[in-house]
Amino acid sequence: MTHGFALPTTAPDRIGGLVAGKASSGGGVDLPVFYPGTGAQVTVLTEDGPEAVAEAVGAARRAFDAGPWPRLGTEARAAVLRTCQQVILDNADALARLECLNTGLVLRELRDRHVRRAAYNFGFFADFILQQAGARYDQADGYLTTVSLEPAGVAALIAPWNAPVALASMKVAAALAFGNTCVLKPSEQTPLAIARMVELLSEVLPEGVLNLVNGRGTVTGAALVADSRVDRVSFTGGTETGRHIMSAAGRNLTPCTMELGGKSANIIFASADLERALDGALLGIFSNNGQQCLAGSRILVERSIFDDFVGAFVERAGRIVVGDPMSDTTEIGPLASQAHMERVLSYVGIAEADGGTLLTGGARRADLGEGYYVSPTAVTAPSNDTRVAQEEIFGPFGTFLPFYTADEAAAMANATEFGLVAYVWSDHLPTVMSVTDRLRAGVLWVNTPMMRELRAPFGGYGASGVWREGGRACADFYTEAKTTTIPKTPPPLRPLGRA
Ligand code: NDP
Repeated sequence: MTHGFALPTTAPDRIGGLVAGKASSGGGVDLPVFYPGTGAQVTVLTEDGPEAVAEAVGAARRAFDAGPWPRLGTEARAAVLRTCQQVILDNADALARLECLNTGLVLRELRDRHVRRAAYNFGFFADFILQQAGARYDQADGYLTTVSLEPAGVAALIAPWNAPVALASMKVAAALAFGNTCVLKPSEQTPLAIARMVELLSEVLPEGVLNLVNGRGTVTGAALVADSRVDRVSFTGGTETGRHIMSAAGRNLTPCTMELGGKSANIIFASADLERALDGALLGIFSNNGQQCLAGSRILVERSIFDDFVGAFVERAGRIVVGDPMSDTTEIGPLASQAHMERVLSYVGIAEADGGTLLTGGARRADLGEGYYVSPTAVTAPSNDTRVAQEEIFGPFGTFLPFYTADEAAAMANATEFGLVAYVWSDHLPTVMSVTDRLRAGVLWVNTPMMRELRAPFGGYGASGVWREGGRACADFYTEAKTTTIPKTPPPLRPLGRA
């Protein structure tokens, strides 16, 4: 049976990049863009080859070196950022539909959360920069030293496909707020809403401040990162890709932020409010169609409650509504691409080969047609060393493991190359404190699923990333510190050569 789920919207016949407010010169191959909800091709993307990328970096460079943006006072810059926020809110429905058209994420979630977050990112940084101050040091010997934070330059921003507008807007808003100019490269799979957002923002921003290039990471992204006129690289995506990008940026000594993968532990103690922990565990692994870096994908459950908890989880997972991303009752839509769906499902065989057991799901929902729908899936693993306990699957696929003591839980949570987030569920404060003190992860959530605070740093230990995103961390990353020393009353200098 095939399903003809309607498309959320239509896309232009062809889309491409935007450089200084005009269509980019392209020059690369044509790339098809698909709706994951039906597998239908919805448009063609013109790839920006190395010359078009060089033009985009050139436009951003000119806008930085000679344009008004880095020289605007923070109040004027904050006012423009607030207009950006409003423009996104005014176009929320259209942006959410375009985002749905190439991600397959649930439309309601895109409208209520992703696009609102995209708008909020601009409002947040508008407020944040008004609170920034430099430093002044009065030295004992009559010297005055000041530290000012100056815009860093041209920022190359590389965004992934799992939450394109929400993640790209964070990078754009932060880079712009501190006076930088940008070249943004979305994933070739998910260019649609970002292209529209850049078009809208380009009408508000001075020419050349925000530029867009499109195409494959290995072509367009690689040319962008290798350009020596780029002063900062901010990347969100897979760990392997992060390694490539950082090596390439390293040749130009370009500072990078890397927000990479995870295999985050979701630790559930018998002392938890178990209904809440169950809701949290389901949200932790199945939100955003299971495609999120901060997924609680290793679910560690205290042995005494393991069987009951897993049973309740499986029962609830089986009732999750998988289907049309546009339906108000859908909880999980399709995965982002056919290749990704096949990769996620391949982990069922990998789990079983390593001695694990499939608890629920594990198959394509062929009854939903040609889209890339997968049943919410969970397995048990015989040990934390197995591939399903160590590798990022990036889909609606949870791996259960039991533990006996808090020490064992913390040790298991830390036994991974990653360290992005960790979730802890317990109403016993000493247990919470003893575990959170030992967890090696950038962000800990206690008795709550994902709760982002933009003023706080977000990012990971180890293979989960380099540096952080969020208020202060972005201020440090997107600026250069300039230290200036002046004698208030010039003291005599050591008289070299006067003898
Ligand atoms: P990638 O990490 O390869 O893609 C992320 C972005 O980087 C895309 O815009 C991509 O472009 C670009 N890119 C790829 N190669 C280069 C390069 N050499 N130079 C510059 N830019 C480049 O994601 P994948 O789609 O390959 O996903 C692989 C795995 O990564 C996933 O299965 C998941 O485990 C993880 N992942 C983690 C994310 C997170 O939020 N931390 C987000 C996405 C993926 P393009 O797509 O056009 O090739």
